[in-house]
Amino acid sequence: MQIVRSVADQYLDAQQGGYTRVWKRRTSPGRLNLEVQGDAMRTKKVNRYYCDFCKKSGGSAYHMRRHEAGCTANPNRQCGMCNGAGYDAADLPVLIALLPNAAAFKGQMEWADGSGESSQYSEYPWLEECVDACMPALKEAAEGCPACMLAALRQSGCIGFAEFNWMEERERFLRDANELRWEGVACGGLG
Ligand SMILES: [Zn+2]
Ligand SMILES: [Zn+2]
Repeated sequence: MQIVRSVADQYLDAQQGGYTRVWKRRTSPGRLNLEVQGDAMRTKKVNRYYCDFCKKSGGSAYHMRRHEAGCTANPNRQCGMCNGAGYDAADLPVLIALLPNAAAFKGQMEWADGSGESSQYSEYPWLEECVDACMPALKEAAEGCPACMLAALRQSGCIGFAEFNWMEERERFLRDANELRWEGVACGGLG
């Protein structure tokens, strides 16, 4: 159920020291009679397909198979983005080896707040710096492919610790690949 809070209510909250009032949107009109009338409703069973490597799911086997083959959490993924750009994708284990082992940073930092139950970020404060330092090498080895970079970050456990803007990287990669393609056309024809 959706709970809608008005600006006025938020203002009231502030005035009343955090007293919380909410408006609830009515979702079922009272007059409709939803009792079973005659025949049972028609039902339809549909398959839902789940990626073996991440939480993604969908109703189309074709699309989910395609997703799974390229899923950035799949250790044997085929990179659709490199493929589409006409590049040979870098070896994923090689890319992962360029990044720090995130798990190794955790134990070192547990003394930081004593409880060992702090947020991820403060539990691994040096990991971010380490990942930052590794990013240029990763980018070079991945030939700039954002999907390959993301896969390495994800599978090394460094994903939350990297400065990585997927949309920006993707745009740059596609633009570069396109320019290369046109250079090829200008130099050697479409052949
Ligand atoms: Zn997946
Ligand atoms: Zn790639």
